[in-house]
Amino acid sequence: MSEADEFRAEVKGWLADNCPPGARGAGQIASGSTKITLDRDTALWLERMAERGWTVPTWPTQYGGGGLSPSQARILFDEMGAINARSPLMGMGTSMIGPTLLEYGTEDQKQRHLPRIARGEFQWCQGYSEPNAGSDLAALKTRAEDSGDHFVINGQKIWTSGAATADWMFILVRTDPNAPKHDGISFMLLTMDQPGVTTRPIRLISGSSPFCETFFDNAIAQKNDLVGELNKGWTVGKRLLQFERSGIGGLTGGARAGDPAKAMVRTAKTYIGEDQNGRIADPAIRNTILNMNMQRAAFQYTAQRANEENKSGIPGASTSIFKLVGAGLQRDGADLKRHIMGFRGLGAHEEVGFTADELKATEEFLHLRTTTIYGGSNEVQANIIAKRVLGLPD
Ligand SMILES: Cc1cc2nc3c(=O)[nH]c(=O)nc-3n(C[C@H](O)[C@H](O)[C@H](O)COP(=O)(O)OP(=O)(O)OC[C@H]3O[C@@H](n4cnc5c(N)ncnc54)[C@H](O)[C@@H]3O)c2cc1C
Repeated sequence: MSEADEFRAEVKGWLADNCPPGARGAGQIASGSTKITLDRDTALWLERMAERGWTVPTWPTQYGGGGLSPSQARILFDEMGAINARSPLMGMGTSMIGPTLLEYGTEDQKQRHLPRIARGEFQWCQGYSEPNAGSDLAALKTRAEDSGDHFVINGQKIWTSGAATADWMFILVRTDPNAPKHDGISFMLLTMDQPGVTTRPIRLISGSSPFCETFFDNAIAQKNDLVGELNKGWTVGKRLLQFERSGIGGLTGGARAGDPAKAMVRTAKTYIGEDQNGRIADPAIRNTILNMNMQRAAFQYTAQRANEENKSGIPGASTSIFKLVGAGLQRDGADLKRHIMGFRGLGAHEEVGFTADELKATEEFLHLRTTTIYGGSNEVQANIIAKRVLGLPD
């Protein structure tokens, strides 16, 4: 038996014994928030996976990770997918600030924050965008002033996902207003539960609010939570965006419950019907699904190849390619599903007779439009690819 096969057998056995039934299939996923109560099995699953370091399988063991190689992590994710196990922990802690601290954090910052992120003790949020600084992020105006052993922050962020339940924020702030705009920015960490931080949920047409306006009124960030050098935060902030984009674009892998290609075929058979050979009844739809599934497979293999070629971790500016193409594929998949479902894919109210799955499809269709905006819009990704990957003139 090869080493990989042995590892797979061990993982399979451990998952069978340790993944509780309530952590399989659709359901709650821990974000680390101290303000959200977890179901019993979700909490147990988080605890057991964190104990093995498998909430962040490729992180070094001294910071709470599993110390696995990328190919071992892929085996773990495959085996989790095979039993429909949900991810034990998701959010900006494990996917964005954690990897950034691994590269840019001081030893003290790594030891204070990484094991707690790995155990899902806190939820993190991202304080980047401002009302007049979205695509042009370096135009940000929120100020941080040196006050001895801490910084005092004043200003406003917007579109802060999860701010209402987050415990910590990583933030880009202006620390030198006289420097050229990319040079006077610093990257720091601060707690959300302090008198100087207020969040105001942004009410959406759906009634729910996944994000907030966040106001800073003499908020405090400790000096030992400045990440990277003072006024050099743009470099750290850009690297974090590359981690965010690789997550959105599917470069980082992760457990995937179910096979989206098979799920699309099942949806088509349910809503369009089958011919006498058991195939999707409409040949044009059959062809469109086939094309979509081939594009998805090609994208997945390209992501896998890029990961294997880049042994030192997540690539740099080329993450924008995966973000651009991956977000487009996700959006096109949701569009196709809605097209197949006809008006039943546009349900908004349970009482009008839509099933829970149909309502979820509408939600997914609307949500996946946002992946082409957050983490930097499609147009911004195309600009980065043109300038930083292809080296085209400005
Ligand atoms: C669901 C969701 C969650 C988000 N979560 C967070 C979060 O947690 N934290 C956070 O800080 N931010 C968050 N954002 C904000 C997100 O990063 C910004 O919306 C995004 O960067 C675009 O900025 P903007 O909304 O100000 O649009 P603008 O920058 O005003 O852009 C408007 C349009 O102009 C285009 N455009 C702008 N500049 C150029 C250019 N140079 N060339 C070509 N086209 C251009 C854009 O592509 C876009 O189509 C979130 C956004 C969404 C939708």
